[in-house]
Amino acid sequence: MGFASRLTKSAVGGMITGDICCLYRNSGTIAPQVVIAGERKPVVRKEVLETAQKVLLVTMVFIVLTIGYLSWQAFHPPDDTTALGLPSPVPTDTLVPTGEPPPKVGIVAGHYGFDSGAVCPDGLQEVEINLAIAERVVTLLKRKGYQVELLGEFDDAIVGYQADAFVSLHSDSCDIAGVSGFKVARVTNSAVPEAEDRLVECLWNEYEKWTGLARHEDSITPAMRQYHALRKIAPHTPGAIIEMGFMLDDRDTLLYEQEKVARGIASGVICFLEGGSGE
Ligand SMILES: [Zn+2]
Repeated sequence: MGFASRLTKSAVGGMITGDICCLYRNSGTIAPQVVIAGERKPVVRKEVLETAQKVLLVTMVFIVLTIGYLSWQAFHPPDDTTALGLPSPVPTDTLVPTGEPPPKVGIVAGHYGFDSGAVCPDGLQEVEINLAIAERVVTLLKRKGYQVELLGEFDDAIVGYQADAFVSLHSDSCDIAGVSGFKVARVTNSAVPEAEDRLVECLWNEYEKWTGLARHEDSITPAMRQYHALRKIAPHTPGAIIEMGFMLDDRDTLLYEQEKVARGIASGVICFLEGGSGE
């Protein structure tokens, strides 16, 4: 309702009670203003409206910041090392450039591209476990700055393979109840026994630290020491094979703690490449 119409309504009908006050006294002009009783509410409503607008603005800013934060988190997942509360022998930083090419590592996902490997009564296949963990190991080592290749069991590239380290990942059979543990071996007639012994030692120590699994050295077979891939790689390439655990009793570790298992292997490789023994 406009000012003029209010006056008219007041004058003519007398139905509206109101008072007149003066604005702009300094200008010498009397500018009457009618404040109609009962119509003060719009002023209150205006204040409420302004408050509501401020609240809305703050809420929107909060929502935008929340969405921004969640988006950032989605692309920067937290390092689960902290979540595990474990030491981190796998640094997430890359190597400092030295002009030298980064170390090259070959990781074989046992049976991948060839067969299923051991199979459990419920259908769980060894190759599924080996591949899932091998992919995690590759990711961890690439994060370290190394050149890393994921290889299949009978990959053509394995013949004469040249690298700074080569590790083949397998899991032990599913048909022996009451047996738990892991084992590591190198080829019997090694051309670089000192290097391969140190790679094996690093894997024993780091894998044990990360997974908490026991060593099962008694079940290392001659076949494991004559593993075909270790005989095919270039003689000077340090290689090892690891049986990561038994698919029956160590099933939970192999299926549900794959990040720890992968970190154990990646840390073993890093230990070796950085000149340690894992102790
Ligand atoms: Zn196997």
